[in-house]
Amino acid sequence: MSTIPDLATLHALGAAQQPSYPDRAAVDSAVQRLRTAPPLVFAGECDELKDKIAQVARGQAFLLQGGDCAETFAGVTADNVRNKLRVLLQMAVVLTYAASVPVVKVGRIAGQYAKPRSSDLETRDGVTLPAYRGDAVNGYDFTPEARIPDPQRLVDVYNSSAATLNLVRAFVTGGYADLRQVHTWNTDFVRESPVGQQYEAMANEIERALTFMQAIGADPDEFHRVDFHSSHEALVLEYEHAMTRIDSRTNSPYDVSGHFVWIGERTRQLDGAHVELMSRIRNPIGVKLGPSTSPDDALALAAKLNPDNEPGRLTFITRFGAGKIRDGLPTLVEKVTAAGLEVAWVCDPMHGNTFEASSGYKTRRFGDVIDEVQGFFDVHRSLGTWPGGLHVELTGDDVTECVGGGEDLLEMDLGNRYESVCDPRLNRVQSLELAFLVAEMLRQA
Ligand code: PEP
Ligand code: MN
Repeated sequence: MSTIPDLATLHALGAAQQPSYPDRAAVDSAVQRLRTAPPLVFAGECDELKDKIAQVARGQAFLLQGGDCAETFAGVTADNVRNKLRVLLQMAVVLTYAASVPVVKVGRIAGQYAKPRSSDLETRDGVTLPAYRGDAVNGYDFTPEARIPDPQRLVDVYNSSAATLNLVRAFVTGGYADLRQVHTWNTDFVRESPVGQQYEAMANEIERALTFMQAIGADPDEFHRVDFHSSHEALVLEYEHAMTRIDSRTNSPYDVSGHFVWIGERTRQLDGAHVELMSRIRNPIGVKLGPSTSPDDALALAAKLNPDNEPGRLTFITRFGAGKIRDGLPTLVEKVTAAGLEVAWVCDPMHGNTFEASSGYKTRRFGDVIDEVQGFFDVHRSLGTWPGGLHVELTGDDVTECVGGGEDLLEMDLGNRYESVCDPRLNRVQSLELAFLVAEMLRQA
């Protein structure tokens, strides 16, 4: 059994990207409240997900991880949760059917409320305030009051995550995600758009296959529910520490705020607090690896985070950028593979491809996203390793945040419906287009 250092010990290691709370007593009281709150997930569910990610690491399954860059408390509505789940289910069906590979489904959902920022401050029209760090920390409004970190928000994260997860669990077990609903997910949608029609055609084939299977005696209950998991970046130490509990079955610590948690590109310091805390829990975990990652960095992270080389425990989520992946990824994969490490390799084609449009909106080009994923597949194919999955920022709504794609969104369209409070997300059409393109890459992998 491993133990968990106390919060003060963790902070003493150095923790990047933490809120500076003005009121310590308020922090203690929020943490105390969280420590007694029931777990959001069961440790046994985390183990099941770990087994599935082990299949990803072995090249037998594909991981689809997606959702908002930053969830918001105001975004916890039935429509919002359903739309996000629906686009992920549609993408998963496309990948499963078109590529004949089991898909492990993980949402950036029910906990993705805290954001690392490249600058501590934000300036607008000559006024400078603390940066927005996600609803977990402070308010998005550009006022001095809103931007003060408030620890009570951590309790709101817990409550919002609980409400979201409750609805997600209802949807995935209660019939909404039934494979026989494969058409229904599309009814309000893009029948008129090329990707909507492509999906309709595939849904027809799936329906015929299901009818056939039922006719030969398959149990329809098999199609009724899907496994779906929650994930978020483990960023605010107070929250993740308070939600870490000893599992009574195994006597081991789990972070029960989500099934899968990851360490961000800005908080993966080997001797820092985030790596230390994540090294102690037994959940499946991820680490984001940007273009500055050396093979030795990756090996040292693996040694610390997964000393027993347990398959499914560690996922490396690479986010190099379309222009860098073909040069940067091969040595990393080669060295990690040569060391005999069993990790799952997942591509985040979003965070290395962000730029600011002339209008000031942060955006990404759909073409760059595809190019990075293609580079990821090419590198893995040439090394004989498995391109294990996709980590994307997306929404089920028709937002205008990323340019390009089949609808050919232009920079001048960005203002029409830009709703993200942080990074730009693929909209529903772009997400589905991505799924069809990746299915094609997978078929050839
Ligand atoms: C994110 O996933 O939203 C994020 C901030 O990513 P990264 O740590 O890779 O920059
Ligand atoms: Mn992001």
